[in-house]
Amino acid sequence: MASNKGLADKIWHNGQFIPWSDANIHVMSHVVHYGTAVFEGIRCYKTNKGSAIFRLPEHVKRLFNSAKIYRMTPPDFSYEQIYQACIDSVKENSFEECYIRPVIFRGLGEFGVNPLNSPIETYIITWFWGKYLGPEALEKGVEVQVASWNRFSPNTLPALAKAGANYMNSQLIKMEAIEHGYAEGIALDTYGYVSEGSGENIFIVRDGIIYTPPICASVLPGITRHSIIKLAKEFGYKVREEMVPREILYIADEVFFTGTAAEVTPICSIDKIHIGNGRRGPITKKLQEEFFGILSGEKEDRFGWLQYI
Ligand code: PMP
Repeated sequence: MASNKGLADKIWHNGQFIPWSDANIHVMSHVVHYGTAVFEGIRCYKTNKGSAIFRLPEHVKRLFNSAKIYRMTPPDFSYEQIYQACIDSVKENSFEECYIRPVIFRGLGEFGVNPLNSPIETYIITWFWGKYLGPEALEKGVEVQVASWNRFSPNTLPALAKAGANYMNSQLIKMEAIEHGYAEGIALDTYGYVSEGSGENIFIVRDGIIYTPPICASVLPGITRHSIIKLAKEFGYKVREEMVPREILYIADEVFFTGTAAEVTPICSIDKIHIGNGRRGPITKKLQEEFFGILSGEKEDRFGWLQYI
């Protein structure tokens, strides 16, 4: 049974379940010094037909892609085994709904920068995680700022990999936003085009057309982003993946974030400038309703996004 603090009792480590309190690492592990980790963030939802994990194949695939970029593919575990281990982690801890965090990192081995002589460790952790940007954010929207920090430029840190070290950049964006009284920051890429939030992709609605920065704009290829593009196209909206100049944000009709943690969160103001009428817009609402309808089991899962436990 999952503990009452919302944390799992058991954590999957290299093929076995171990107690939460035993899932510790040595201070000289490579990851501690050099950020040598790739990870995923996945949600398991309580639907009206039982618990189901959202888009598990895509998350496991992105995990393996991130690992491949960093020459960190787990030597002992296949895609199928990690896939199954995510399902087993939810079952083992009796969660009805939870967040699932697989992480692959370099452990205790050589102390220098070269990661190749440090062992690859794979863990899957689960816990209960509520509304990421606050319980009211999904309806009221959040106030955000454009960050003074850019996302990393091409060929520095690979943005398509969900790597631990990337989140040092995210932390700068997030801390700055919080210090300034905002819920989140929107980062530009190094060319000055809109990139993404510290942990969310971004969508802009203008004159009925939906825009989102393309994957070459230093964004993580979000799985929620992909899902929202699908739903928007199904509704018949034009969706354009193209570079977005900063000032489009201020004159947009609607802007919203997408992400596993943030789900679909409207943005009501950017740098204190109201977006549209300063409230959740109709297209954002429509997409939210469809998205949450599928996740709750109320609407048909016609894309096969739910993996029932
Ligand atoms: N960008 C960043 C930087 C993120 O951390 C996340 C969360 N994983 C996203 C975008 C959204 O991706 P997804 O929808 O796959 O969670």
